[in-house]
Amino acid sequence: MVMDLPAAGTQARFAVPSTTDPQTPIWHPSPNFGPRRDGLQPSLIVIHYTAMDNAEVALDRLCDPEAQVSAHYLIGVCGTVWQMVREEDRAWHAGAGEWRGKDDINSRSIGVELDNKGDHPFAQPQMDALERLLPRIMDRWAIAPDGVIGHSDMAPGRKSDPGAKFDWPRLENQRLAQRRGYAKSPEIASMDEFRARARDAGFTSDADDATLLAAVRLRYRPWSNGPLTPEDFSPLGHTTLST
Ligand SMILES: [Zn+2]
Repeated sequence: MVMDLPAAGTQARFAVPSTTDPQTPIWHPSPNFGPRRDGLQPSLIVIHYTAMDNAEVALDRLCDPEAQVSAHYLIGVCGTVWQMVREEDRAWHAGAGEWRGKDDINSRSIGVELDNKGDHPFAQPQMDALERLLPRIMDRWAIAPDGVIGHSDMAPGRKSDPGAKFDWPRLENQRLAQRRGYAKSPEIASMDEFRARARDAGFTSDADDATLLAAVRLRYRPWSNGPLTPEDFSPLGHTTLST
């Protein structure tokens, strides 16, 4: 079979399998990056979905100087991994928000985009590729499982990715994200206590009650809605709550 290869000197951009190590990302540099501020090193990994039609469209946008956005990695539905920004550098994926009381998440994180529109499950080869990529990043920067978060975790109300279809328990079970708590639910659901628990878990204390509740549920109990219930406390705590 005659292969339709790119001409010499042109960059092989899309869906070209690596001829060596299939786990080596395809280098597809974006101009949208800068130095990490204040000498910060990555201590977080932020998971996103692209909300775009396909990986090629997302890759174009993440490398478009006009768009002023980027991420370190993009994973396609077939498991192809593109790298756009060196891990040492600051990519522009997180925007305004905070985690564990710290802002400038871009300076503190590695951004991983998943080709997904947000309304459908994530493809198996894509999740497999994510599970191969995460431990490598975590090893390189000594990032613990509790440093792997969703975009919506650090930007409640403003962002909703990776969304209700993302399989957090799958990552948690492999120690690639903080395992959810199974604390005994309190008798009475106090919003003050909930806010304290959410803050201890890393969520901002700036969000209003409804926004914070929605963000915590998006991560742990996306099927739930309505007012705060005792069950909302359980994933946030690893010990029995005080009364
Ligand atoms: Zn995002």
